[in-house]
Amino acid sequence: MAKAKRYLNFIGGKWVEPSTGKYAENRNPADTGDLIGEFPASAAGDVAQAVKSAEQAFARWRLVPAPRRGELLLKVGDILVRRKEEIAQLMTREMGKIIKETRGDVQEGIDTAYYTSGEGRRLFGQTLPAELPNKFAMSIRQPVGVCGMITPWNFPMAIPTWKLFPAILCGNTCVIKPATLTPASVALLMEVFEEASIPAGVVNMVCGSGSAVGNALVNHPAINRISFTGSVEVGRKLAERCGANMKRLSLELGGKNAQIVMEDADLELAVEGALWGAFGTTGQRCTATSRLIVHQQVHDEVLAMLAERANKLKIGNGLDESVEMGPAVSEEQRQTVLEYIRIGKDEDKAKLVCGGKALTEGEYAKGYFLQPTIFDQVKPGMRIAQEEIFGPVLSVITIKSLEEAIQVLNDTEFGLSSSIYTRDVNRAFQAIRDIEAGITYINGPTIGAEVQLPFGGVKNTGNGHREAGTVVYDFYTEWKSVYVDYSGRLQKAQIDTESVG
Ligand code: NAD
Repeated sequence: MAKAKRYLNFIGGKWVEPSTGKYAENRNPADTGDLIGEFPASAAGDVAQAVKSAEQAFARWRLVPAPRRGELLLKVGDILVRRKEEIAQLMTREMGKIIKETRGDVQEGIDTAYYTSGEGRRLFGQTLPAELPNKFAMSIRQPVGVCGMITPWNFPMAIPTWKLFPAILCGNTCVIKPATLTPASVALLMEVFEEASIPAGVVNMVCGSGSAVGNALVNHPAINRISFTGSVEVGRKLAERCGANMKRLSLELGGKNAQIVMEDADLELAVEGALWGAFGTTGQRCTATSRLIVHQQVHDEVLAMLAERANKLKIGNGLDESVEMGPAVSEEQRQTVLEYIRIGKDEDKAKLVCGGKALTEGEYAKGYFLQPTIFDQVKPGMRIAQEEIFGPVLSVITIKSLEEAIQVLNDTEFGLSSSIYTRDVNRAFQAIRDIEAGITYINGPTIGAEVQLPFGGVKNTGNGHREAGTVVYDFYTEWKSVYVDYSGRLQKAQIDTESVG
């Protein structure tokens, strides 16, 4: 049998072995016989080495003009375009989502590269009138230093690019720890940085577990920004630690996203949206639709259409272009989903409409496949209506009015994405105003964010920061207010207040 490819950490522009000498296997969740490679099981010492190289690189990188840094990101975007198919193929093998979606994941990285490169010529500060004569006032953005990034497995390219590109555009240097289930995609991203001649040490990658590498990043005194995307459970721990160390932290956490379907909606469109939102990426998106809140007048029709189509979805290896839903990312994730299906069946009067089982026969025996699952007659307080499942399970809740729909939608600890299908513009705007979420779609599913807008959520979905758009630059820079007094005398603000004339 051919030896598995051994990947290394990327530190100071070089591919280096982990100090532990240990590696962990990464296998295809659609076909566990397919070994993607072996990846470093690194330790705190490797993080220290990466942070040191990032600190050294920062001394020069911060002085490179932002438009020049932007031009390098343009190059990164062009290389991603050229390597898009190769990266998408590897990503599908690595985490299972279908090839159309992994192409989309890389495309999001390309969009982010091009969008961010343009920001190199903006990175706006402000000029403001000073209150004293012969005095000039302005604010400028300054880089913050070394940033640590900890990323999940469900968007192995898009999420790292959302973090790394704006951080380096601002003049910072970075150390990224990819999810243990998807290091290969991030390793290819490091190759892209290398090919684009991003200077050594500006971006570093250390692979390994959350407890060893993630922890070490969070605790390292030279890192003063941590950008984390992942579960609420881990995010909460990091918030405690970063709070104690006065370290700035951006959290993008879970969701329990809902789509409302009102009785005046285009039902065909609403069903198509719900299928894509609930079962795309096997339901493993932070923005996945996991609750469908349907008006009682159209409930039966919507449910019948949905169940019929969900039952027909083609499940299999995502490299096959005709497959519509891939496997769960791991056996552990599949078991979590099956446990929620068990809870759903046991819960008071929830009705299993379709799916509900693992797929284990024939071709499916090689991977972590499951059926798309729909529960009807779900009550808002049930666990399957409250907790993030992160799998292909949709809970249908019936409502009688828009007010009730919005109340049910808001009744969770999360607030990431939301959607409403209606033809009534008044209802649409009421929903925009009253829904508690970072993202609201009108007549579109809960998934499909674009990189030029802020991305993130309210309540336990995060801690108030946003990724993407222009707002992300507030996280990766510090404001400096600058006053230039050209009066040639001591002028005292708030004290020299004689009125004019
Ligand atoms: P996770 O929290 O288990 O892991 C995320 C990352 O944190 C991984 O790299 C992991 O190795 C690391 N980690 C784990 N323990 C750590 C520790 N003690 N210290 C430091 N790092 C640690 O999440 P996951 O299973 O990879 O991803 C799924 C979760 O991510 C879901 O809850 C999903 O909603 C969320 N997510 C959110 C968004 C968003 O933008 N809001 C996007 C994608 C995924």
